Amino acid sequence: MVRCSVAKPQDECACRSGKKYKACCGPLHAGEAVAGTPEELMRSRFSAFARGLGGYLVRTLAAEHPERALPEAELARELSRAKERQRFLDLSIVHTAEDGDRGEVLFYARIYERGEDCSFAELSQFVREGGAWRYASGVLVPSSRLPADPTSLDRAAFLALADQAAR
Ligand SMILES: [Zn+2]
Repeated sequence: MVRCSVAKPQDECACRSGKKYKACCGPLHAGEAVAGTPEELMRSRFSAFARGLGGYLVRTLAAEHPERALPEAELARELSRAKERQRFLDLSIVHTAEDGDRGEVLFYARIYERGEDCSFAELSQFVREGGAWRYASGVLVPSSRLPADPTSLDRAAFLALADQAAR
């Protein structure tokens, strides 16, 4: 997908949907709406990182996520601080699937930390709990191991890379 290089209005959502924050992830962050799909939840978590909304990031973890066992306030503070170090530049959704109360999203996140490229692709797993999608787990491949155009990956190619990276 090619994006226009026109100046972006300040209120454009950080999940890079092209929509205004108020019409995109804003209502989810404010608790006024619930993500209708795993992709919406994934996008809202990316923009929550960009905005330093640690409380939202904790609330949207599935019960089975290991970080759920950590003290909630402390974890929320730590997640809120990610935006002090990291620049959340871009998000590309590569693949999504849903099966009942389970879903997955393969995405590429372009992120810089102190001038260094720490972009990555991740296959995230989501679970619907009490009618709301939650982030359960993810398998991640750093950009150094990704092809020049990470959005060209499909699920199988991504998993092959993740398998190599784990060895
Ligand atoms: Zn958004």
